[in-house]
Amino acid sequence: MAEHTPLAQRAGLYLHVPFCQRKCPYCGFSSRPPRDGDFACYFKAVLAQLHTVARLPEIRELRFASVFFGGGTPSLLPAGMLASLLHACTAALNCAADREISVEVNPGTIGAPALQVLRKAGFNRLSVGVQSFCDAELRRLGRIHSAAEAGKAVAMARAAGFANISLDLMYGLPGQSAADWQHSLEAALALEPQHLALYELTPEAGTPLAAALERGAIRLPEEDEVLAMMAITRRLMAGTALARYEISNYARPGLQCRHNLNYWENGFYLGLGPGAVSAFGGGRFAIPPGLTRYRERAASGQPAWDAGERLDREAAFRETVIMGLRMIRGISAAALQRRFALDLRRYYGPVLERLLAQKLVVWHGDLLALSDSGLLLANQVMAELV
Ligand code: SF4
Repeated sequence: MAEHTPLAQRAGLYLHVPFCQRKCPYCGFSSRPPRDGDFACYFKAVLAQLHTVARLPEIRELRFASVFFGGGTPSLLPAGMLASLLHACTAALNCAADREISVEVNPGTIGAPALQVLRKAGFNRLSVGVQSFCDAELRRLGRIHSAAEAGKAVAMARAAGFANISLDLMYGLPGQSAADWQHSLEAALALEPQHLALYELTPEAGTPLAAALERGAIRLPEEDEVLAMMAITRRLMAGTALARYEISNYARPGLQCRHNLNYWENGFYLGLGPGAVSAFGGGRFAIPPGLTRYRERAASGQPAWDAGERLDREAAFRETVIMGLRMIRGISAAALQRRFALDLRRYYGPVLERLLAQKLVVWHGDLLALSDSGLLLANQVMAELV
């Protein structure tokens, strides 16, 4: 979808599935193991919320260019239920004919018949939560699957007709060496994915992993080791057809994740399900986590979210700059001017001049982007612009 298409015409729809077979000790996402009756209750509540929000004038103005079923572990739901939810969403909302429709699956929770149902239902992009191709690392991460199961899931997905497959991997894991990371990345590339998401593990406060780190029961790799992993990533990725288009994401030409690009452009999105967030019409609306409360709100004909938070123009501008700099192509000063009536150079003045002098950001014509050294220090650069 062209970058100049108005944001309302390329909105994203996110459906949060708040269940996982077992909680991974590093996970800060809103999910838990399902209990009896949860799936049916969730299904009914999502349909109720969908039908309520689909009638809102602000939602009726949106055209959805992408749909993303994420979690949690969407593949824990019966495939027929996912297919019905997708059908309900596309029937109730104005979706683009060429919409990207992604679903996250975790190896060990998906089989060939389910993948066939999903493909037939219209899902055209699969995001596979592999995380590592070392079994010892997967065990330490508390994952429920093996490296072999991840490879099998990809093969089954291809056989089911998925031609756009993304793999998620993490580096900087407890006990991981640079050689281990190289092994995982090489194994992922050998599967010839269309898209790779390579994230450094960030310990989330309040998780069992963060607690284990605090008491010294485990340790993360030293900074030098992590830098060596990043160097391996640059070297291996340079020889592939997957181009880096965001700090942590790589894609074959034309197969960048449209749904995530919309987030990085600070676009409009509608969130369904407990814990999901929506952003449209200058406001942001969060649904609290928890199935019971979500079901009650949805059943009573409410959109299910809390009172919206409104960002003033300058706060929204700064947020758009920071999110946009995550993209390798950078952010367009002219587009920011059109959207916020603010001049990027003038707004940041000496702060931007300093970042330019330090060669942490660079201009490519109208686009301001992180430089190679800025990409390594992205958090530091963002902190200057927040
Ligand atoms: S599978 Fe993903 S969402 Fe579920 S607990 Fe593990 S990391 Fe969290």
